[in-house]
Amino acid sequence: MNRCYDLHTHTYYSDGLLSPAELVTKAADAGVEVLALTDHDTTTGLAEAAEAANTAGIELIPGVEISALWSRKTIHVVGLQVDPENEVLAAGLAGSLETRNQRAEIMSAKLVKKGFEDIDASVKKQVRGPIISRTHYARALVEAGHAKDIPQAFKRYLAGGKAGYAATEWAELEQVIGWIHAAGGYAVIAHPGRYKMGSGRLRAMFGEFAEHGGDAIEVISGSQHPDETERMARFAAEFSLMASVGSDYHGPEQRWLSLGRLPRIPAACRPLWSQWL
Ligand code: AMP
Ligand code: MN
Ligand code: MN
Ligand code: MN
Repeated sequence: MNRCYDLHTHTYYSDGLLSPAELVTKAADAGVEVLALTDHDTTTGLAEAAEAANTAGIELIPGVEISALWSRKTIHVVGLQVDPENEVLAAGLAGSLETRNQRAEIMSAKLVKKGFEDIDASVKKQVRGPIISRTHYARALVEAGHAKDIPQAFKRYLAGGKAGYAATEWAELEQVIGWIHAAGGYAVIAHPGRYKMGSGRLRAMFGEFAEHGGDAIEVISGSQHPDETERMARFAAEFSLMASVGSDYHGPEQRWLSLGRLPRIPAACRPLWSQWL
C-alpha cells in the first residue's frame, strides 16, 4: 500500500550526472520502490533505466519532464506512464530539442561577447545526451572558475534577464498536455512552488491546466517547506487535480537533496498512482 515513491528524477541524458543504472541503484539503496525517470525533453534513458530497475527489483515508471510556455513563462510539465514510442510525443520532443539547439547557439554567442570565448566547446564537453541544458552551461562556468557553484552560475549568468540568458519559444502548455495524453500518460505540473508566481497567477495556471485535461500537481517536490505542501494540497483540491511526489534529483552535486526522502502526501490528496494501481 504505502510504497516509497519518487516520481521526478534525472540522468546524464538530460542535465543529471548519473547514468540510468547508477540512478536506479542509488534509488533502490535509498528505499525507493517506485521510481520515475523524467529527463528534460527526452526519453533516451528509459530503456536502460527499465533494465536496471528489473535487476534492482524496483518499479520504473517511464516519464519525461517537458518544458512548456504558459502565459509567456517557462513551466515544466512531467509526463508519467508515457509510451516513448508514441509518434506525437516523439515529434513534440524533437521540436523541443531543436528549440534547445537554437537557444544554445544564442546563449553561447552572448557569453562569448561577455568574454567567455571557449564556452561553446566547454559546454559540449559537459553534454552526454541529446539535449543541451542551462545546467551544462552552469557546470562549464563553475569548472572555469567563473562561479563557485551551480546556483551562483545561474544567479550571475543564466537566470532570466542575465547576460547568458535567451528567451525560449517552448510549446504551449495545452500542446504539451496533448503530447503526454497522446502517449497514454498523465500530465503533472512540476515543482509549482518554484515559478515565482503569486497565488493569483498559480490559480490561473492550475485553472487552465485543469481545463485542458491536466491530471496532477507535484504536491511534494524535493526539499520543500511543509507549509508549501499544505498550500499545494489545497490547490489540488480546489482544481480537482491529483497529487504526485518527486525529488527532482539530478545527482550528488545537489548536496541538500537525496532520492526518495520525501514526506507523504497529505491524506486529503488523491495520489496519481491510484490511477495505475
Ligand atoms: P533549461 O531547461 O536548460 O533551461 O535548464 C533548466 C534547469 O536548470 C532546471 O531543470 C534545473 O535543473 C536548473 N536550474 C534552473 N534554475 C536554477 C538555479 N537557480 N539554480 C540551480 N539550478 C537551476
Ligand atoms: Mn534540471
Ligand atoms: Mn523542472
Ligand atoms: Mn526536473
